[in-house]
Amino acid sequence: MEIITAVKGFKDVFPPETDKWRHIEATATDVFRTFGFGEIRIPLLEKTELFRRGIGESTDIVEKEMYTFVDRSEESLTLRPEATASVIRAYLEHALPGTEPITKLFTIGPMFRRERPQKGRYRQFHQIDVEILGPDDPHTDAELILMLMHFLSRLRIENLTLEINSLGCAQCRPAFREAVIRFLRNGKPEELCADCLRRIGTNPLRVFDCKVQRCGEIISHAPRLTEFLCPPCRDHFVKLQACLNLFEIPFNINEKMVRGLDYYTRTAFEVTTEFLGAQNAILGGGRYDHLVRDLGGPDIPGIGFAIGLERLAALTPDRGKDGEEGPLLFIAALGDRAVEKAFFLCNRLRMKGIRVEVDYTARSLKSQMKRADKLKSSFALIIGEREIDDNRALLRNMRTSTQEEVALDELEHTITKIAR
Ligand code: AMP
Repeated sequence: MEIITAVKGFKDVFPPETDKWRHIEATATDVFRTFGFGEIRIPLLEKTELFRRGIGESTDIVEKEMYTFVDRSEESLTLRPEATASVIRAYLEHALPGTEPITKLFTIGPMFRRERPQKGRYRQFHQIDVEILGPDDPHTDAELILMLMHFLSRLRIENLTLEINSLGCAQCRPAFREAVIRFLRNGKPEELCADCLRRIGTNPLRVFDCKVQRCGEIISHAPRLTEFLCPPCRDHFVKLQACLNLFEIPFNINEKMVRGLDYYTRTAFEVTTEFLGAQNAILGGGRYDHLVRDLGGPDIPGIGFAIGLERLAALTPDRGKDGEEGPLLFIAALGDRAVEKAFFLCNRLRMKGIRVEVDYTARSLKSQMKRADKLKSSFALIIGEREIDDNRALLRNMRTSTQEEVALDELEHTITKIAR
């Protein structure tokens, strides 16, 4: 019979990769807590309507990438393609706006998008998502970016580029949008790719981040949003830059960065690296001052970002020895009585928090010692019939290749002492 494989674009994560993920998640939790964030856990499944309204009908995600199905009660449900809409849904459903002026939340978990799988792009991927709801001042934007860059430096990731832009607001963006439509219509629209041609009518700003070369050339001559920003948006953007400069955070202003999602206003940012090939963005974020209202809530501004965990892990340097340390002790047992003894000792020590490995199948000594080596165990204890009778065994230090005799009934004590 053939084995059943995973669904295309869905992947398994094994050690030591999982150890790295845990390290990243623990560092994130530590840094975010210091900056005043609490963790929220939200469902993987939501009503489809949430993403239609929250992400926008004319985005790639909603148009073609969602895993949507009708469940047995005829309700349309969707596996979440991103976390922001869900966080806001939870925020509103639990009436948080009435209880606190600022809500700072983060969540870590899988997202689902039916994109074309390739290196660095999966159909189930994981994001670290951070949101601040309430304030709209530029200090908040700067604080979020500062925290993010601090987090990345804690992971010792280097050679990153922070790109920022301002996408304007409901006051100034419509005029810019009109100018872009006029520019595209008056140029050579027939030279745009089919998607961009359609976008002129639905979401013209998306032409800015089209990957097709010709579209890129055409749009590079288009008007720039910075020329259209209203004074409050301009001030906001200038203040953000001043705050980043105060902390000597280097950044580039990328006027072509419009981000894929409809809901962004004012600050938008991405962090990119040259080490990931085509999928060079490891995170994206921005301000969304009308999303809460669009989802049926009060007019509360927000800002957030989402980091791709797979891409972050690919850039995070291995932690060397401490990340892949083996067990403290490997017990090689030969014979039934030795296996019984090993079973007891091994699990007693584990319950004291000491990592111990054992082989209950009583294979040859040679193969057991090979396994102790492979696991990078610090010590090995060999127990056979004679050792049980004598109540003594040899404890071998695998690093120094020295050994000492230990009393079996004092082993727990001896090993606990070594572990300290
Ligand atoms: P977005 O929610 O589209 O702004 O994406 C934020 C980050 O999530 C990106 O910068 C990527 O690191 C990651 N990401 C988005 N889509 C995928 C995917 N299909 N596979 C892996 N990572 C992804």
